[in-house]
Amino acid sequence: MGAPNPDAVIAALRTVLPGKQGNIALHEPWFIGKEWEYVKDCLDTGWVSSNGKYVDRFEVQLAEYTGARHAIAVVNGTAALHVCLKLAGVQPGEEVVIPALTFIATANAVSYCGATPHFADSANATLGLDPAKLSDYLGDTAEVRGGTCVNRKTGATIRAAVPMHTFGHPMEIENLLEVAARFKLVVIEDAAESLGSFYKDSHTGIFGRVSALSFNGNKVVTTGGGGAVLTNDDALAKYARHLTTTARLPHKWSFVHDEVGYNYRLPNINAALGCAQLEQLPEFVRRKRELAAAYRSAFSGVRGVRFFTEPPHARSNYWLNALVLDAAVSDRRDQLLDTLNAQGIMARPVWTLMHRLPMYQSCPRMPLDTAEDLERRLINIPSSPFLAAGKQ
Ligand SMILES: *Cc1c(COP(=O)(O)O)cnc(C)c1O
Repeated sequence: MGAPNPDAVIAALRTVLPGKQGNIALHEPWFIGKEWEYVKDCLDTGWVSSNGKYVDRFEVQLAEYTGARHAIAVVNGTAALHVCLKLAGVQPGEEVVIPALTFIATANAVSYCGATPHFADSANATLGLDPAKLSDYLGDTAEVRGGTCVNRKTGATIRAAVPMHTFGHPMEIENLLEVAARFKLVVIEDAAESLGSFYKDSHTGIFGRVSALSFNGNKVVTTGGGGAVLTNDDALAKYARHLTTTARLPHKWSFVHDEVGYNYRLPNINAALGCAQLEQLPEFVRRKRELAAAYRSAFSGVRGVRFFTEPPHARSNYWLNALVLDAAVSDRRDQLLDTLNAQGIMARPVWTLMHRLPMYQSCPRMPLDTAEDLERRLINIPSSPFLAAGKQ
């Protein structure tokens, strides 16, 4: 086992990436469909804000593509997660299981509910929450009393679990559902990164009671900023619409609100962008999988580093491609990152684990050995859909 020679890594990347000058970003949006046409239509008709035909159409397109019964478009993925946790009934003082290896939004959304994140370890094969470890840990730490899961150490109710499909790779959702059913946890999927990713034959985000998507500028498709709540539950969908439109009661002219709601609905102009982007989603995913296949073969002969590939039960969108350094050489990660970035190839380490951040360091957690190991060894590399086609 040798150290990854930065020159060998760069040489492998260069065989895949286009030879253009300038920096190659991690993930850039791509507007080659009807984006201009639909956005111009919003401006021409004056329908730019929180009502309009593109919002309705975007929601229908999302539901059709994912197979969810309902999609409710909101201002961003973090707001979608916040609403999901509210819909799941998360109350102040309760705990919510989330992976330590995730983007900050998952933890923050729990905090917005006055609840506490409870950090779980990841599985090497998926990079997502490890259901087997969670099962063992809850067996030691928690007990079901009167139909709810109680943390024996803190005395708090553990209400829900929020698995996340890391970099688009579906985690073992069926195993997690089984563990959650045993411990009476509501499952909310953070599917922000996995639009276009399938677990077995079903789209990610339709397994949990509710789930969250994101259409931020760096995601698979973008609305500028945006998100959506997915659910198969008619009553929850109705409540999601209510909560995200300031909890206003329907009336021709009066303003009556029946609880503290949120101004979270997606503006029509953003939805217009989203409609055009969704029309291209299958092609984006096809290209991203092609790029991943090219990386995979380019790195097959490079020592000290492995290209992360989708778990066997899954078809991934390969949102962000990842290299995993061999454990023995993980101390050379930062040198490799320096070299790649200096050469104009954007590369980034994975997020700092949640339990290391000042506001979350005292939260409850299980041993996080795999997440901490992955944190030292993962590197994200350029993943935009047009890179596959740009090969010269
Ligand atoms: C992008 C993302 C979100 C939502 O982010 P927004 O920028 O608010 O749309 C949530 N969770 C994860 C894991 C994400 O990657």
